Amino acid sequence: TAAVHDATCIFCKIIKGEIPSFKLLETEHAYSFLDIQPTAAGHTLIIPKYHGAKLTDIPDDYLQDVLPMTKKLVKLLDLDIVGQDGIGYNLLQNNGKIAHQEVPHVHFHLIPKRDTKTGLG
Ligand code: 5GP
Ligand code: ZN
Repeated sequence: TAAVHDATCIFCKIIKGEIPSFKLLETEHAYSFLDIQPTAAGHTLIIPKYHGAKLTDIPDDYLQDVLPMTKKLVKLLDLDIVGQDGIGYNLLQNNGKIAHQEVPHVHFHLIPKRDTKTGLG
């Protein structure tokens, strides 16, 4: 299904395996991999397998796997330890240059937050 990809897009190339990535999870509609410049250990990007720069460019069926995949990643990365205040995460999705978007293919950042003082993480 080449029509949903852009030949020049870094993240489309990652989906197609033309550029290597550290893949975590993949479904029919979504793909997740480690950020190459992590702001924290385990910093992960979750992307729809459809090329579009902004959230509203992506059809709903390509977005439907994104949040369930994010929930699985939270468990995989051990970020949901019950009763622990020293561990958490941010979910971030930038749209447009003014909002600090650098790669024009929709991606959600899953950024672990760990309190080093408690020894967690
Ligand atoms: P943005 O600022 O567009 O929301 O974030 C783009 C993110 O993509 C950055 O955190 C950057 O480190 C990451 N990134 C850019 N190019 C690559 C790449 O080729 N591989 C991986 N794994 N991450 C990338
Ligand atoms: Zn793309």
